[in-house]
This record gives sequence, structure tokens and C-alpha cells, in this order.
Amino acid sequence: MEHLNVPPVNHVKVLGGQGWVGLIDHLGSEATIVNAARVSFGKLKQSMDERDVKLLNYLIENRHTSPLEHVVFTFSVHCPLFVRGQWHRHRTWSYNEISRRYTEIDLEFYTPEVLRRQSEDNRQASFFDPAFHGGQLREEIRRHNRLSLELYEKLLASGVCREQARGVLPQNMMVTFWGTVDLSNLLHFLELRDSDHAQSEIREYAVAIKKLIKPIVPNVAAYFEKKGQVW
Ligand SMILES: Cc1cc2nc3c(=O)[nH]c(=O)nc-3n(C[C@H](O)[C@H](O)[C@H](O)COP(=O)(O)OP(=O)(O)OC[C@H]3O[C@@H](n4cnc5c(N)ncnc54)[C@H](O)[C@@H]3O)c2cc1C
Repeated sequence: MEHLNVPPVNHVKVLGGQGWVGLIDHLGSEATIVNAARVSFGKLKQSMDERDVKLLNYLIENRHTSPLEHVVFTFSVHCPLFVRGQWHRHRTWSYNEISRRYTEIDLEFYTPEVLRRQSEDNRQASFFDPAFHGGQLREEIRRHNRLSLELYEKLLASGVCREQARGVLPQNMMVTFWGTVDLSNLLHFLELRDSDHAQSEIREYAVAIKKLIKPIVPNVAAYFEKKGQVW
């Protein structure tokens, strides 16, 4: 049996190799989208021609989103708890995750490679300051992670149940979940999370997802590239 904490073959590493997102499965293609849009004509096509690409662009441009919902992706995501918290606000995804009520093995913690400074004019934002190295702070984060794990293990060894002991594990704990979403809602996610307004950690995952889906929806990627977005 494969282990869930191991990335699937088709994956992209993020957060300096500490996290990853992988494509587990997908349903449909761009031909599915144009077929869905033209379903009233009762005709099916297997491949895309120029007229289909025009129709696809028209659908995206005019937010005629329901045909896009016939393409579905399942991703496996390995990320810190705080990224998972932001991700799970997207209610149009379906999620399943390893439960710390069942298992205490494979605990991992994220240590940022670089510490950013707090923005002074935006309480939600941060910025990279090349002059700011954070000194020993990264080492202290590592130490904090280690001490949390030690306390967690002590609680378990003392007979405390897993569901309460996990409360001492920090936001840097890595979690692995599956998320399934249709293309329309995925594009919405990517718009919000590959953005200057999003936290840079979750943004790395959004950029990685674009790489993973580009071969499956190349004309969708091209549409956004023409609009000046990076895919
Ligand atoms: C940069 C950034 C900062 C944020 N900061 C905060 C914050 O400080 N605090 C905070 O609480 N959240 C914050 N969020 C989360 C944000 O409010 C949304 O919850 C999150 O982005 C998910 O967006 P969504 O609801 O559009 O996506 P989804 O939940 O995937 O929904 C997609 C779309 O479906 C429709 N929809 C889904 N559910 C409903 C519903 N119940 N009723 C009506 N329509 C629905 C809506 O049109 C919605 O846009 C932030 C998000 C971003 C990107």
C-alpha cells in the first residue's frame, strides 16, 4: 500500500522542497467543455479546432462557467496547517485529510527558508527585505517545533488521547489532504491565491497547480497568458 505522505508521480515541490502538490486524477478535457457548451445541438467532438478555442475563450471571458464545471481535478496537497486553513475556506472543493485522531506517525514541521518583514501599511501583508536575515530566529522556530513534538509525545506516552494531545502541535505542522474541484472553481481559487494579495506560501501552491493543469487545459492557460498572467 502506498503512503499518503509520499507525493504522487505527477507533483510539483514548493516551499523549498518542504511541501508539494500533486495531481492524483482528472476528469474531462477542453473538448468536454465545448461539448458541454454545445450539448443542446446533440453533437460530440473528441478534439479541439479553432472554433472550439474561440468558444472556450468566449465562455471564460463572459463567465459562462457551467461548461467548465464538467472538468474535475483531484490534487494531493502537503502543506503547513496555516496554508490548509486558508485553502479550506474554498468551500467548493471537497476535502479529505489524514486524521491526527488516528495516527501520530510521520509528523513533520515547516521551517520557512526566509523570514519576511511585517508590512506597515497592510496588516495582512509582508515583504521580503534582503537586509533582514532574522538571525537565530529560524533556529528558534526549529527548536519550538521540536519541543512541541516532544510535549506531544510525552502526552501520548502518559496516556493522553491523540485528539487532545494534538492541540500542542504548532501551525507549522505539515498536513496532507486530497482536494477535488471543478475547473470553474479552480480558476476562481487561482485568481484569489496566485495574487499579490495572497500569502506567498499559498501562492506557491497556486502557481504549482497552474503547472500541473497546463498540459490538460492548454488553451485555458493560453487565454490567461494572453491576459498577461503567468502559467
Ligand atoms: C487575500 C485574501 C485574504 C483573506 N482574508 C480573510 C480574512 O481576513 N478573514 C476571513 O475570514 N477570510 C479571509 N479570506 C477568505 C475569503 O473571505 C474567502 O472565504 C475565500 O477566499 C474563499 O473564497 P470564495 O468564498 O469565493 O470561494 P468558495 O468557497 O470556493 O466559493 C466560490 C464561490 O461560490 C459561491 N459560494 C460558495 N459558498 C457560498 C455560500 N454559502 N453562499 C453564497 N455563495 C457561495 C460564491 O460565489 C463564491 O465566490 C481571504 C481570502 C483571500 C484570497
